[in-house]
Amino acid sequence: MIVVMKVGSPEPEIQRIESELKEWRLTPEKIIGKHKVVIGLVGDTASLDPLQIKEISPWIESVLRVEKPYKRASLEFRNGEHSNVIVSTPNGDVTFGQNHPIVVIAGPCSVENEAMIIDTAKAVKAAGASFLRGGAYKPRTSPYSFQGHGESALELLAAARDASGLGIITEVMDTADVDKVAEVADILQVGARNMQNFPLLKKVGAQDKPVFLKRGMSATIDEWLMAAEYVLAAGNSNVILCERGIRTFDRKYARNTLDLAVLPVLRSLTHLPIAIDPSHGTGIAQYVPPMAKAAIAAGTDALMIEVHPNPAKALSDGPQSLTFESFEHLMRELSVVGQAVNRWSKSPVPVN
Ligand code: PEP
Ligand code: MN
Repeated sequence: MIVVMKVGSPEPEIQRIESELKEWRLTPEKIIGKHKVVIGLVGDTASLDPLQIKEISPWIESVLRVEKPYKRASLEFRNGEHSNVIVSTPNGDVTFGQNHPIVVIAGPCSVENEAMIIDTAKAVKAAGASFLRGGAYKPRTSPYSFQGHGESALELLAAARDASGLGIITEVMDTADVDKVAEVADILQVGARNMQNFPLLKKVGAQDKPVFLKRGMSATIDEWLMAAEYVLAAGNSNVILCERGIRTFDRKYARNTLDLAVLPVLRSLTHLPIAIDPSHGTGIAQYVPPMAKAAIAAGTDALMIEVHPNPAKALSDGPQSLTFESFEHLMRELSVVGQAVNRWSKSPVPVN
């Protein structure tokens, strides 16, 4: 349920309502919207009559039921307002959200060595990216494939952060590594294969860094939003959803089917910001630019793109990785599409 307060409701009155609701064994969560304050209610609300709650105060405008199984992730819980996730990076705050410039995250699939991660960081920054991606812990289908350099790669990411000023996003696969990864990363990635790893979702939900939640390769949209709900319910309100392609019947020509329809669908269901990953979504470098442009046209808030200094020699996901040159070229094209939808940063690209 949500309690919508009248414009100008006095703060002590809001606090009084919150404490009364706690006595009803509900968990109130105050959300300050652009126009109104809303109190989201989580708990056993099924037997409650909205009129009963409305009687608590004359400052309550309305009490509405949230019909979705995901409460905190639902658009209703925010009274129809989409939320922003603000991430601090050495270069300043970066906002993921519908009324903000599109955020570009770029970098290699895996952190391979110091030179390649620092060179990549500098190259993607020069082209206009705000975040560097790179896996230290890699979820690989085969136990014999490169598994990532682990902790030592986290140190290399920290060095790349210092060298470039970019924010860092990297995947955490194991609950035992969350604190270690959160020391270096500005955003924690939960990968497709772990989208329903509930202990991991609870753990990343109980720490402060924003969470980049990839869609499981066979997950429905409801399952994905319920996974986000785990993070939100554990106390972390900063979740970004990332579509990275799903398994469908035809895998002959592309690694996955990139479901761009999630953009308008999710907009109507959730307030959370949305990102698209055309690299894992297609698995083929040549297909990344058209899908990245399409994602912007369809309203994405962010893009995650794999870039490698020498894709032919990459230790993972080489076939879908762009070279520095092709990424730079793509960013020029994206700026045209981004400006057409009024969502491209006008600030000049900083030169290091
Ligand atoms: C990745 O980002 O490198 C990755 C493994 O992604 P996904 O979880 O979407 O497969
Ligand atoms: Mn990858």
